[in-house]
Amino acid sequence: MAGYKVLVIDDSPFIFKAVKRALEPNGFEVVDNAPNGKIGVEMYDKYQPDVITLDVTMPIMDGIETAKALIARAPDVKIIMLSAMGDESLHSQAREIGVKQFIRKPFKPDELLEKVNSLLGE
Ligand SMILES: [Mg+2]
Repeated sequence: MAGYKVLVIDDSPFIFKAVKRALEPNGFEVVDNAPNGKIGVEMYDKYQPDVITLDVTMPIMDGIETAKALIARAPDVKIIMLSAMGDESLHSQAREIGVKQFIRKPFKPDELLEKVNSLLGE
């Protein structure tokens, strides 16, 4: 999927690296890493990414609040929520807000690629 921009909103730089490793060999441009939701929303405005990977647990502004803010800005925004073990209780809340794809950390590169492609194919 050449030319598609992906923004990573996650307080772990390891996740940013893992997303880059999974997607860049497939032609995606992983544009930046926002370490919390507040910066994530600012970076959304700056980069206008096609896809966002969104962490749940972050300082300042968590994944649920961030998803709400992004969807309020852009109802068609494509978000994959990256959850750790124990975050599943938040999935129904995230679904109600409009998040459609979820992936459990640690993820396999192909698993992420598949979810990204599926979101872009909608
Ligand atoms: Mg986190």
